[in-house]
Amino acid sequence: MAEVLIRKTDYDYQQLKPAFFEIVEKLAGDKIKSGQRVLIKPNLLSFATPEDAILTHPLVIKAAVEYVLEKGARPQVSDSPAIGSFERIVKMNKINVALKGLDVICSPFKNTVMLDIGKPYGKIEIARDAAEANVIINLPKLKTHTQMLLTLAVKNMFGCVVGFKKSQWHMRAGTDTDAFARLLIAIHQAVKPTVSILDGVLALEGEGPGKGGKPRHIGVLMGSADSFALDMAVCQMLGVSYKRAPILKNALDKGMLPLCEVKGALPRVINFELPLSSGLIWGPRFLHNFMRRHTMAMPVCDDELCKMCSQCWTLCPAKAIENLAEKIEFDYKRCIRCYCCIEVCPYGALHARETIGGKITRRLMESFS
Ligand code: SF4
Ligand code: SF4
Repeated sequence: MAEVLIRKTDYDYQQLKPAFFEIVEKLAGDKIKSGQRVLIKPNLLSFATPEDAILTHPLVIKAAVEYVLEKGARPQVSDSPAIGSFERIVKMNKINVALKGLDVICSPFKNTVMLDIGKPYGKIEIARDAAEANVIINLPKLKTHTQMLLTLAVKNMFGCVVGFKKSQWHMRAGTDTDAFARLLIAIHQAVKPTVSILDGVLALEGEGPGKGGKPRHIGVLMGSADSFALDMAVCQMLGVSYKRAPILKNALDKGMLPLCEVKGALPRVINFELPLSSGLIWGPRFLHNFMRRHTMAMPVCDDELCKMCSQCWTLCPAKAIENLAEKIEFDYKRCIRCYCCIEVCPYGALHARETIGGKITRRLMESFS
């Protein structure tokens, strides 16, 4: 039986630190030994402030570092942002302020090793720091995700794929949301965190996981040694069938979902706003292109907000965004609907627009789920 622990807290460090320590001590206290290398893996997707609710809050990271130091182990805070400089993200999210004076390495993933994550993917480049750490403390943020519905503990380990390699894997999965979900599961299993503690104090609803989402106060830290159990408990809290979340649906199909026991009061979050598009491609492969165009939400740009900063077209794995000097244009035939562009736009200029076919399909799926 996989335990999920829940503690209510705000970002008041006097309150947050004991809540965090209690969870990590119960779940992984006996696994962190003096002298060990402990990787702390937050979600540091792109430029954002703590108030944007896009990144793991700096005080949650600080609590993890202080806990590891108290154990006499050696903490390292690392991630590989989708785009942009790790150092600038650390500054903007005020992690440098939170960690000031603490004996901790805070650096981006750089070197990689090849890890076999099984068929059909084979060997994949994973951050060496993740592959070689004695212990991994995974610190996901509770956020919506236009492609995966939610990004929680399992998805957060995708950050161990370094830099632009992430886009290449998006491209390889193409329009097949289930294939991408299975890839995320395989990566998670290869770099299995020792414990995951989710920052659900200020969550992100709506069109996450970037600036298109809206902060929503929930006020919890949730932890488990089993990332799938943690993700299932979050779905339960939000009133979302986990069969709607592609990662959990595919884990269920593979018989990987554990029985879980939730310890602590699980709040009921009413009307949590989910993104418009996820998992609307199904049926025989020859129909996928047609369905993609007619049922999956399409990325669109608000020209008033766009600053032509180049992040979206630099990152787009399908090279489906054209820079027309004064505005951008999408090539929807090439676009694989991965929504990475929406994720990284620092100005919230991009969002997903639902198609009529998508609206009908979604309503049908909701009525059957
Ligand atoms: S849409 Fe966003 S990411 Fe793309 S160029 Fe405009 S501001 Fe930059
Ligand atoms: S345009 Fe956006 S959604 Fe389409 S493939 Fe490029 S990054 Fe993905």
